[in-house]
Amino acid sequence: MNNILIIEDEQAIAELEKDYLEMNGFHITVCEDGLTGSETALSGDFDLIILDLMLPEIDGYEVCRRVREVKDIPIIMVSAKKEDLDKIYGLGMGADDYMTKPFSPSELVARVKAHMTRYSRLMSAKKSNNDILEIKGLRIDKTARRVFIGGVEKQFTTKEYDLLVFLAEHPDVVYTKQELFKEIWGMESVGDITTVTVHIKKIREKMEDDPSTPRYIETIWGVGYRFKVS
Ligand code: CA
Repeated sequence: MNNILIIEDEQAIAELEKDYLEMNGFHITVCEDGLTGSETALSGDFDLIILDLMLPEIDGYEVCRRVREVKDIPIIMVSAKKEDLDKIYGLGMGADDYMTKPFSPSELVARVKAHMTRYSRLMSAKKSNNDILEIKGLRIDKTARRVFIGGVEKQFTTKEYDLLVFLAEHPDVVYTKQELFKEIWGMESVGDITTVTVHIKKIREKMEDDPSTPRYIETIWGVGYRFKVS
């Protein structure tokens, strides 16, 4: 996620943008006219485009239109004339951002990073085919090993997480502490079943509004625990 295409006919500006972005770890391709630029944008694998408005062959408006027909990568349009950028707003060109020349290279880098972050988040949300377990407002992303309660992420240690997932995957089944210890820590582990009690307590402190009356993991006195469904 760091390939940027710069379409800019003023070499000095293109060089400046390229230098700053490369210093920040981006890989840069430069095209000096609109036609080459749009062809390169459509055939290549870019994550963001910095597009000048006034270009030889075809202008930035047209490049933007052609790219937008096929790709939804972020496009930052730049122009020397503020009026032109006002026109872009008016046209609803589908560009994601606009900058008036001259701009500071660090401002450009900041905006590029912001758009990259937003775009990659969007892409990963779209692509996500993670293994998700959802139960009673609890959402466990098993692929990413992340836990959310009411949309808020909670941090668990490895064993707390394993224990929680095991119970949540077997709702309404009562397990003894011995069974849970064997399941999560394995036969060969050093420790005893009070480890289970301690971990359950920690899990409750993290996920329950009131750990003394748990909504999720219920204590079955004299037996063990179960993940409560209703
Ligand atoms: Ca130009």
